Amino acid sequence: SLMEQHCAGCGILLQTEDKAKPGYTPKSALEREVVICQRCFRIKHYNEVAPVAMDDDDFLRILNGIGATDSVVVMVVDLFDFNGSWLRGLPRFVGNNPILLVGNKVDLLPKNINLNRVRNWLQHEAKERGLRPADVLLVSAQKGIGIEELLAKIGQLRKGRDVYIVGVTNVGKSTLMNRILHDYGAADMEITTSPFPGTTLDKIEIPLEDGRSLYDTPGIINRDQIGHMVTPKDLRQLTPTSRINPKVYQLDSGQTLFLAGMARIDFVRGEHQPFVVYVANNLYIHRTKLANADEVFAKHHGELLAPPHNEEAQQLPPMVRHSFKIDPQGPTDLVISGLGWVSLQGKSPAYVDVHAPKGVSVGMRKALI
Ligand code: GDP
Repeated sequence: SLMEQHCAGCGILLQTEDKAKPGYTPKSALEREVVICQRCFRIKHYNEVAPVAMDDDDFLRILNGIGATDSVVVMVVDLFDFNGSWLRGLPRFVGNNPILLVGNKVDLLPKNINLNRVRNWLQHEAKERGLRPADVLLVSAQKGIGIEELLAKIGQLRKGRDVYIVGVTNVGKSTLMNRILHDYGAADMEITTSPFPGTTLDKIEIPLEDGRSLYDTPGIINRDQIGHMVTPKDLRQLTPTSRINPKVYQLDSGQTLFLAGMARIDFVRGEHQPFVVYVANNLYIHRTKLANADEVFAKHHGELLAPPHNEEAQQLPPMVRHSFKIDPQGPTDLVISGLGWVSLQGKSPAYVDVHAPKGVSVGMRKALI
């Protein structure tokens, strides 16, 4: 019957009864050749995203099903938000199925980056979380980088099996699916994408040549993503949209850098040295004395130090301090998940405090550059 139709945008089961519930579409729309739900229609034509009530149980139900299948799992993560894009419990879900770990948005990485290091870093992080991927690939779904290699790798691994694409919201999974769809020549079955997390709803199936299928699963909301702490508008300013140009700050001990109103880097102790900042190119960076930093933040958060803007600044989870000691063991990055990172040379010991909203993960790694 008509009621078993799925939205060609997000894949959700369509219904004509309840406007407030996912999958709603007016009866008249069912006569169209390609039917999408009202939500997808809005996103597509008005660029307007309604918040989604994402049901974690439904998501877990689908992921649990994957473990029972004989399939290949492609896990997509955002290179700028590894912690925020981690699917907790994935090793449990996938069973014995091979996993391809895909780092998306490689187009944003600075020019001189060592991609092998990025891959090794992803591999290392995955292992720390109990996942041993069959391979790690770097792609840009948006720019079409590494897609051919990804498809070749999937082809190699799948040996006739189905492929599940999994990931939390906003890692670019829909964009990737659209890419793959194009490569399979099924372009009029485009999946809805949006800059705000939470827009891919149900499982979507794409037939492959050999009779097997590629499945896109819904993204689950990971509340630790900064995307869930700010408005869509602020998120657009915080998220890099083009290749990052690093900015160099020569800092003395006792100086502070504010990364807009989202993070604060205190150079607590150490020799005068460069701090190289890798964030969205237009993000406002404010330099001040550490001794004044609390006052500057209290006075200017939401105004000069924005995004987040105004009232949204008050909604931001409280800032939490993370203290680091950088040993003289070579270049080191301090990573603020979803925002970017700051690189130190690691030639002499340095003590640095990073303040970021509660829930945003902050960590240290061997420099990628
Ligand atoms: P999903 O929630 O995982 O399905 O994510 P979407 O496909 O909706 O993408 C989320 C956001 O990331 C959107 O703003 C996309 O434009 C952006 N995005 C997706 N892929 C890429 C990429 O390869 N590079 C960059 N720079 N942005 C991307």
